[in-house]
Amino acid sequence: MPVIRVEKATKQYNEEGRTLYAVRELSLTVEQGDFVFLIGSSGAGKSTLLKLIGGELSPDQGEVYLNEVNIYKAFGPWRTRVARSFGIVNQECQLIRKRTIADNLLLAAAATGMRRKGQEAARKALSIVGLSPVADCYPAELSIGECRRVELARALVNSPPILLLDELTANLDDDTIWDLMHLLNELNSRGTTIVMATHASQYVNIMRRRVVTLVDGRLAGDVRNGKYGRIV
Ligand code: ADP
Repeated sequence: MPVIRVEKATKQYNEEGRTLYAVRELSLTVEQGDFVFLIGSSGAGKSTLLKLIGGELSPDQGEVYLNEVNIYKAFGPWRTRVARSFGIVNQECQLIRKRTIADNLLLAAAATGMRRKGQEAARKALSIVGLSPVADCYPAELSIGECRRVELARALVNSPPILLLDELTANLDDDTIWDLMHLLNELNSRGTTIVMATHASQYVNIMRRRVVTLVDGRLAGDVRNGKYGRIV
């Protein structure tokens, strides 16, 4: 049974009287334990698709299901369950500058109702990304690579079964990207489902995971053991 099922989803924007399709009639299923690289040029619809899956944007047409629950019709406990299922790293930095790293993680835990176990969860998430020593630092004191790792820790704080990662590796040096990819591999081998938008072509080619290619908001390719740019 697919954990995520996107069915003919369309997200459109109207600008100056013209309709722009960010995602168009796109269908995709992701199984539990999949590791999916979402690729495509800038503006292809990768971020929009991730936000549709994670419940941050609702489709204008079509449906998105998480374990057969329509996430846009979920309410009450189902809504909380949906929110706890995803660990999300967006392109925009989500860390609050005036809070320490530990506080940032605690806030993320509290946002999905995990306040009681927050301390322990924050400590564990920072340790997974190898950044326990920065718990009392502020975001401005960290390098870009450390910030991205902290954002990953923030996404992991509730031990979600699914990670949705948007350009996690953008603007990072090769060593840092490699460390992150190792970490993601490790998380995936323990069962975490990963959907990751990226331009890091050389790593996509080395890792040979499922590669989903978007072109102009449509699904142009979906290849297991895929390579960057190869759509069949
Ligand atoms: P990608 O992540 O592949 O770069 P996006 O999903 O960010 O692509 O964007 C897909 C298309 O939708 C782009 O043409 C972008 O300009 C447009 N778009 C995204 N968000 C908005 C928005 N809030 N308002 C208008 N257009 C948008």
